Amino acid sequence: MSADVEHLTCREFVEILTDYLDGALAPAERADVERHLVICRGCSNYTEQMRSTIGLLSRLGSEPPQTGAPAPLLAMFRAWQAERAG
Ligand SMILES: [Zn+2]
Repeated sequence: MSADVEHLTCREFVEILTDYLDGALAPAERADVERHLVICRGCSNYTEQMRSTIGLLSRLGSEPPQTGAPAPLLAMFRAWQAERAG
């Protein structure tokens, strides 16, 4: 096992992103996430989206978005909720 192989893949990144945004990661994992954000534009954009979605959701409380909310937002909300429930 060599330490410098511990690169986070995009898939792993997405899996731990909600924990990262919750501040639930260990410092070493946070560092991995932040390193990935620097090198990966796609995940960086995705993180910004998640951040603003979560910000929006926390303003709404646990209520689902109003009808008329864009479908992708609703889907993200459900995925986010399912992840938090598990
Ligand atoms: Zn990535």
